[in-house]
This record gives sequence, C-alpha cells and structure tokens, in this order.
Amino acid sequence: MVDNRSSLPKKMSMNFGKIYAGQKPAFVSRASGRVELIGGHTDYNEGFVIAAAIDSSACVAAAKRNDNIICLYSEWARQKHEFELPAFAGTSLPLRKQGPAPEPSQDCQWANYGRGVAAYLCREGLDVKGANLYIASDVPVGAGLSSSAALEVSLAKAMIHLSKPDWQIQPKRLAQICQKAENVYAKSPCGILDQITAVTATKDHVILLDCRDVSVRLLPFDSNACSIMIFNSMVKHEIGGGEYGKRRRQCEEACAVIAEKYPQVRALRDADQAMLDSVKNQLDNVQFLRAGHVIGENARVLAAAEALKQNDIEKLGRLMNESHCSARDLYQISCEQTDFLAEQIWQSDGAYGARLCGGGFGGSVVALVQPDAAAKISKNVRKAYKDRFDLDCDVYLAKPWQGTEIIEPA
Ligand code: ADP
Ligand code: MG
Repeated sequence: MVDNRSSLPKKMSMNFGKIYAGQKPAFVSRASGRVELIGGHTDYNEGFVIAAAIDSSACVAAAKRNDNIICLYSEWARQKHEFELPAFAGTSLPLRKQGPAPEPSQDCQWANYGRGVAAYLCREGLDVKGANLYIASDVPVGAGLSSSAALEVSLAKAMIHLSKPDWQIQPKRLAQICQKAENVYAKSPCGILDQITAVTATKDHVILLDCRDVSVRLLPFDSNACSIMIFNSMVKHEIGGGEYGKRRRQCEEACAVIAEKYPQVRALRDADQAMLDSVKNQLDNVQFLRAGHVIGENARVLAAAEALKQNDIEKLGRLMNESHCSARDLYQISCEQTDFLAEQIWQSDGAYGARLCGGGFGGSVVALVQPDAAAKISKNVRKAYKDRFDLDCDVYLAKPWQGTEIIEPA
C-alpha cells in the first residue's frame, strides 16, 4: 500500500531521472486497484456490483519528449519499451481518428496496456504527445485487485494531462477506452467494473455500479469503523477459464426461458425468484442453480447498498457471507482453499463477513473486519491456511480511496 503519498512524487522523480538521463517528471498520475465487495458474476447479467477503489495504486511519472515516441519503463517488468505514435502526431489532422495505431506488441505483453491506451485516445481525437513515462505500482499483480486497470487508467490520465490537460472526456468514456485497450491489446475479455471504479470512486466511498447502463452511485464507507481485508489464496485452478464461459451460457439459457413467459425480462437482472420458480420444470437443475445465484446476488447487492446507507456494517457482513455460500453452492465457483479462508474468517472475533471475490476457482476472499481486529485475524488465518494447505496466503489491508488523481510536484 502506498502509505506516504506526499513523498511519492519525490521518490519517483529520483528514479525517473535514473531511467531518463536526469530528466525531471512534470507530474505523477495515480490510479487505484479495486476490490469487489459484493456482486459476483452479476456484471454480464446486467446487474449490480459494489466495489471500492483502494489505496494501492499504479503511479505514472510523466515528462514530455520532443518527438512522437512514447517510452514506457515499468519497475515491475524492469524493462523499457518504446513505440511510435502515428506519424501525424503533433498535428491535429483528422486522420488520427481513423485507426487504432500503434499496433499491439507481439513480444512485450505488459507494454500493450500503454499501446492500447495511446491508440484509443488517438482514435478518440486526442493529439497524444510523445512522452517518457515511468510506472511504479503497489497493486499486486494477479491477486484480484486489478493491477491491469490501475495501470491503464493511470497511463491514460498521464497521457491526457501531458498532451492536453483541459481535454474533456466523460468518466464513463474514459473507462470504456481503457477497457477496450485491455480487451483488444492485452487480449483480456474483462468487463468495465475495474476501470469505472478507478475513474469514478472517491475516498471513504464505495461505488454501486449498474452494469446495464454503466451508471455509478457513490455510497459512504466509514473506514474508521471497518477495514477491508483481502486474502489471496495463491491458487488459480486451470478449470476456471472454460467454466466462466459455461456459466455465462447457462445464465443466458435460463434467461431465455424466463423471458418466454415474462417478456419484460431482458437479462437475469430483470427476473426474480418467483419467476424462476415458475419455469423450474423447463430448466435443467444446473441452469436453475446458476440463475438462482444471479437473482439472489443482485438482490443482495441492492440490500447491501441500503445497509451501507444506514451504516449497518453487520448486515453488510451477513450479506457477504450469504454471497459466498451462493457462489459455493449455486454458482459452484469456489474451491477448497477459498472455502477454508472464508470459514476461518467467519469464525474470527471482530469479523463482519467474508466472501469469495472475482471470477472464482481460486483467487481472493474479501472480508470486512473491525480495524483493531485486523492484525490478529491476519495472523491466525495465515497460520491456519499454512497448516492446512502448506501455502502462504498474502493478506492486504485496504481503504476506499480516491480512484485517480494527478499529483503535481510540490
Ligand atoms: P490483475 O488481476 O492484477 O489485474 P491481470 O492479469 O488482469 O491481473 O493483469 C496483470 C498484468 O497487467 C500483468 O501481467 C502485466 O502485464 C500488467 N501489469 C500490471 N501491473 C503492471 C506494472 N506495474 N508494470 C507493468 N505491467 C503491469
Ligand atoms: Mg486485470
């Protein structure tokens, strides 16, 4: 976690100079990782999710160049990578809107996030300028906290601020551009939750995202009363990939059957349990279970939003526990390790609730706990996990944070 934000530009400035021949960055842009508190697999059913931008972030220190090259350096990759902006960079020829240039790189996967963001910003009409960019991130990679979206959004903000600081773009549009960069250039078929969270979230709030129209509502979150913990099981089961596609199909099939009887149902988000029950004999058992999870989960997200408005953290915790059980029993995306972590947390003093987050088949469990209980819970759960699976589970403490910002030098 970045705990001393005020020293960050100074530290990055020093490192920047080492990579870029003594040059000083003009500013640092920052974008947060995110955690999904509740709303598992509701996104592609046009439902709701509650997520928080967290105080781990990807930072990009940026300085102008006099040519049309973007140079990236990543501390994580310990590597420099350059690419050229379209030859007409530096002018405002309309041609720039025509195609997503530069192309994806075949041999430098991490740089494709930067290439993609630059390409789609160009297509959006921004005259992206040549830049030296230095990336430092404390969002752990692959832990379910979306290091990729933090990187894209931070890069996009840096490119915009360097090229045309007063350029106007809607937050939703910016999130879509970053998502497209990830989908097309990094070949990762992610939804928009990660990017929209970084772009819209504010400190001490979580967001309620309506995945149908990508609208966002901010809900208060009292970090003094409650801490967010993330337990990375450190396992990722291979079966996950194909199973995700299967779940999507099963939801579509169940939805189609419900929609025959109730034409107002366009996605499972529009259905309720009574509708599902009324078509039970037209569905196979698996379709029935999958739809039951999505319908229940959507209702839980809306109940959780109400609980947050009432500052009822205990209720929110209970809803998270129910969410885990539904993911385990109806959606069948949990596994031994994530079930064990959730159960250990449920039994801990000072824990409000815990659930599997992200896609499933391994990955992370998110928990809400009393702040003064966090250290003990972390220690005990890590030990129990090690004893049971001989694996070290990484634990992160997170606070809802401002999703993105530009930090100017002091
Ligand atoms: P996550 O759940 O963390 O988003 P992804 O697989 O979606 O996992 O994204 C991880 C990828 O994002 C990395 O393999 C790398 O290509 C890119 N990435 C994340 N952080 C950095 C960084 N600091 N520097 C360079 N690339 C990064
Ligand atoms: Mg990602």
